[in-house]
This record gives sequence, structure tokens and C-alpha cells, in this order.
Amino acid sequence: MTFSDFVSQNEVAIRLSFFVSIFAVMAYWEIKSPRRQLTVSKTVRWVNNIGIVVLNSIILRLIFPAAAIGIAVFAAESEWGLLHVYDISFWPAFFISIVAMDFIVYLQHVLVHSVPALWRLHRVHHADLDYDMTTGARFHPIEIILSMLIKFATIVVLGPPVVAVVVFEVILNGMAMFNHGNVKLPLHVDKILRKFVVTPDMHRVHHSVEDDETNSNFGFNLSIWDKVFGTYRDQPRAGHLDMTIGIRGHRDPKQVSWLPGMLMLPFRGKISGYVINRRNWED
Ligand SMILES: [Zn+2]
Repeated sequence: MTFSDFVSQNEVAIRLSFFVSIFAVMAYWEIKSPRRQLTVSKTVRWVNNIGIVVLNSIILRLIFPAAAIGIAVFAAESEWGLLHVYDISFWPAFFISIVAMDFIVYLQHVLVHSVPALWRLHRVHHADLDYDMTTGARFHPIEIILSMLIKFATIVVLGPPVVAVVVFEVILNGMAMFNHGNVKLPLHVDKILRKFVVTPDMHRVHHSVEDDETNSNFGFNLSIWDKVFGTYRDQPRAGHLDMTIGIRGHRDPKQVSWLPGMLMLPFRGKISGYVINRRNWED
């Protein structure tokens, strides 16, 4: 059995073991050395944020039983995608795939902040009143389905090695937990790390209530996209300890911290609400 076969046949076990290990490390780090004081109890946050993750996993399994890996195997067998057309060998194809998929995730993130209807969905991720590793996983089921469709399209056009798709999923999940972590990272380490990857302090800026800060630092893995495309912000104006996390006008814990409220959140409020091109700086 080749390495690729092993990875594709044990995809769920591989992803789950990385998820559980990284979750455990981050949970310990957050409890030992938190960056900020939480405003909502950790139990309420975790039960509901993890609740939406479980719900999303069930929905995804039901709608797309083959998942991204199934599409990747299909694309590989049918020799679909640019990397097959140009016959790129494994390792270059592997690295190109990881970087390209990360770029698409960045673009998708800018998109969901720019299009009003999509921002309504993405609001569920941003309405969290606190910022910790479970914030990184709370997305509305419709946004999760949309992400999956974009991922399928990317795989079919790109034709990445199957292993690259699994590795990217593991990196994306791990990095989402890391860069949403409510953890203290020495400032000099943060400074060096964020030259390459998105750190918790870098991504926290994106969860500020300030519109101009929310519309910055869209990257999830590599920090280069924000720097190259002009969406990078170094630090929040109010500082990491005094900045307010969340969205203005959506701060009732019943609506933003409890699962039923979160599921209804995209359908609340007037259509004329916040969108990227109608910012109200004085607000
Ligand atoms: Zn966002």
C-alpha cells in the first residue's frame, strides 16, 4: 500500500486524531495562560460552539458523504484539474496545492465579508462575544455547505494530490484552533511567527467590533495574502486587552452564545445592515 492509499483510506482517523491532539494542547494552553478574560462562561461557550460543530459535521456527512477527499480521489482517477493536465510531479503539486487552497480560503473569506447575504451567514462566526479556540469552528451550517462547494470546485479545477487535500484539512483545522486561541504568545515570538503564518494576535484584530478592523487580516494560515493584497492590520487600536470582540447590535447572549440563537442569526435585522461597502465610520 502506498502512502497516498494509506492516507486516503484512513482520512477520518487521521483528521480526528490531529483534531483531538491539537484541541487538547490548545485547551491546556488557554486555561494555563489566557490572553483575555472571557465575558461568557467557558462552559456555555464550549457546549454551544462545539454543539454547532457537531451539527455541521452531521449535516455535511448527510449531504456530501464522500466529502472533499471523495472529490479529490475522483479528480485524480479522472485526471481532472490543472496539475494533471500539466503533469506536475508529486512534491511540486503537493506544495502548489496547499498554497493554492489557502489562497482560495483567503479569497472566500473576503467574499463573505463583502456580499451582504453571505455576511449574514458569516456573522455567526463573528458574533461570538469572546475569542477562543472554539470560535474558530463556529460557522452557520449554510456557510459550511457553501465552503464545501467552493472546496469541491477548487479541487476539480486544481486536481491536487489526494494527500494534499487531507494535509490541508488538517492544517486548516489545526491553524483555526491555534489562531483563534485565547493564548498568550510572547510578543517577540508573535512578531517572528506572523511573518509566515497567522498568529492569535494577528487574527484577533479581525474579530474586533470596529468595522475597519474586522475587514482586515482575512488569512487563516499564511499571513502573506493579507500583506500582498493590502488587508493587513498590525494591532487593534484599543489594544488586545481592551478591544471589544463581536458585532455591534448583536450582543444578546441568547442570540449569539446559544445554539438556537446562532442558527437564527443570519435572518435577523434589516437588510440595510452592515456590509463592506456601506461602512459607517462614526457608528
Ligand atoms: Zn471573518
